[in-house]
Amino acid sequence: MSTKPSTIRDVETAETRIYEGGQWRDAQGARTFQVFDPATEMPLASVADATPDDALAALNSAVAAQRDWARTAPRVRSEILRRAFDAVTARTEEFAALITLEMGKPLAEARAEVAYSAEFLRWFGEEAVRSTGRFGTAPDGRTRLLVGKFPVGPTLLITPWNFPLAMAARKIAPAIAAGCTMVLKPAALTPLTSLLLTRVLADAGLPPGVLNVIPTSSAAQTVSAIITDPRLRKVSFTGSTEVGRRLLGQSATHVLRTSMELGGNAPFLVFDDADIDAAVDGAIVAKLRNMGQACTAANRFLVHESVVEEFTDKLTDRMAALVVGPGIDPDTHIGPLIDEVSRRKVHDLVLDAVEHGAVVRTGGAPLPSPGHFYPPTVLADVDPGSCLLREEIFGPVAPIIRFETEPEAIAMANSTEYGLAAYAYTRDTARGLRLMEQLETGMLGLNVGVVSNPAAPFGGVKQSGLGREGGLEGIEEYLETRYTAVGDPYA
Ligand code: NAP
Repeated sequence: MSTKPSTIRDVETAETRIYEGGQWRDAQGARTFQVFDPATEMPLASVADATPDDALAALNSAVAAQRDWARTAPRVRSEILRRAFDAVTARTEEFAALITLEMGKPLAEARAEVAYSAEFLRWFGEEAVRSTGRFGTAPDGRTRLLVGKFPVGPTLLITPWNFPLAMAARKIAPAIAAGCTMVLKPAALTPLTSLLLTRVLADAGLPPGVLNVIPTSSAAQTVSAIITDPRLRKVSFTGSTEVGRRLLGQSATHVLRTSMELGGNAPFLVFDDADIDAAVDGAIVAKLRNMGQACTAANRFLVHESVVEEFTDKLTDRMAALVVGPGIDPDTHIGPLIDEVSRRKVHDLVLDAVEHGAVVRTGGAPLPSPGHFYPPTVLADVDPGSCLLREEIFGPVAPIIRFETEPEAIAMANSTEYGLAAYAYTRDTARGLRLMEQLETGMLGLNVGVVSNPAAPFGGVKQSGLGREGGLEGIEEYLETRYTAVGDPYA
């Protein structure tokens, strides 16, 4: 496995400072923290380390810009997004290299993330000019009802490390479209990509103060400094359910609007009438995109007993053939996990499943360092008591469990506090509709291994979150509805 050093010098425009009020600047006290390449464990960059005072300054800038930004013509906001879409698309290689360097995913996947992210800019650029209210007559025939949509106001955006560009774009684009100003706190492990996106948006004409970015190594203290400030009106968070719960508690202080994109534990159901080759294709993507570090990742493979051997054999052959290595190498299919803590957690889950009787069909042990590499792993005959069926694995591990009947499969699929994504392979359309109605999930992939789409409402039910990102619903999260009662015009 090659471990050639990689550096952000390859990406000449990479930015490492705080962006606040339209200015790039150092953190107070010139504090910095380091960002590492998970494939080599080498430092990539020193990044400004925002303090609680920096966060407050960022919120001040967002608050100061809010009034003018809300009054900016929707067409102007739309065209900023369109220019940013063009720029991100034109700079695909630069963004992809940065994503791969700081996050680890293979370059091909990083390019796909760039295309997916850019599409949010285009989609919400189109939505910016379509936000309308309504006029109506009350049932008594006298009062007139005038309903309008208005930006929620200054918003705090908090993003995770696993899709450093997409998670930022999926929040920033609808906020721009709706007319909200923002403070963005990117993940400490991957701040560089969102800083480059910020530069692109500034170059596309985003006015000073509309977007402020505060990378920090002290998330809890820095966020606490502004989340209870009464001038903040909304929090949009993507990350773990545990941190989401804490932020919901803090948001209660001033009753903030909240969007919460939290964890998942997606079931992947394969029925006896499924096209098994198609199911294996879908399983590879649903399991291995981002090395399994996706909230939508298939976490539990529930397979009908009559096809479980065929499915397991074919999935094992495909997973065992994949090339593991640094994402920056063009031949790599599977990059490193994000850090050593994550890799240890994945391996502990595998060991627990094996102790409960699971059979390792491929993989099952960490690869030599440097780099936090873990091989694609298939576990057959997984016991229902195994921890990895209850927790997000966040790694390239596919546990397989057999079932006998459709009601049993649905009950197993729903036996989790999560409800983000689910996948099902069947040729029976009536069954597909029954699954749509009975699976407790925000998103269902029916004979498809990817559910994410900028034109679709992304989000979960149960403890996977609140609100939706993307689709027609995405902009609504940043708008509030206000209405005016107008007296009888004929009185
Ligand atoms: P995380 O630990 O919850 O962190 C997410 C973000 O919250 C990071 O920016 C983090 O900052 C920040 N944070 C952590 N503790 C905080 C606190 N006390 N107060 C304020 N902010 C805090 O999650 P992660 O490990 O980055 O991401 C993986 C999780 O995200 C998984 O559970 C995955 O399922 C979920 N996810 C969900 C979606 C979705 O759309 N539903 C999409 C992607 C990921 P630091 O980086 O400094 O820790």
